[in-house]
Amino acid sequence: MKVMAKKEVDVVADIRCDICDESTSKHGCHCPQFGTVQAQWSYGSHHDGEAFELHLCESCFFQALANLQEQRRGTLMFSERGYEPNPDFGRVQGDDQELV
Ligand SMILES: [Zn+2]
Repeated sequence: MKVMAKKEVDVVADIRCDICDESTSKHGCHCPQFGTVQAQWSYGSHHDGEAFELHLCESCFFQALANLQEQRRGTLMFSERGYEPNPDFGRVQGDDQELV
C-alpha cells in the first residue's frame, strides 16, 4: 500500500556561472548549458580530503579552456617533450572527428 504525503523538495532552479554570475539558462529556456570543472583530492595529494566543483557558462568555459591551453603551451615549450598544439585539447566528443 502506498501512503501518500505532500513534501517539499529542493530542486535546482538555475545554474549560475561561477565566473561571471550569469544564468546558464538562456533565451527563456529551462535547460542550462554549462561546463563543469571538478576535482576530488585524496590520500597522497597536497589537498587530501578537498573537493571542488565549478559551473561555467559557455563563454567562461571556453575562456578557461583557452587559458589552460596557454598554460600547457608555456609549460611544454621549453621541456624535453616540446610543445605540439592540440586543437582537441580536453574534447572527448564532437566535431565529427574520432577522438582517442
Ligand atoms: Zn560565465
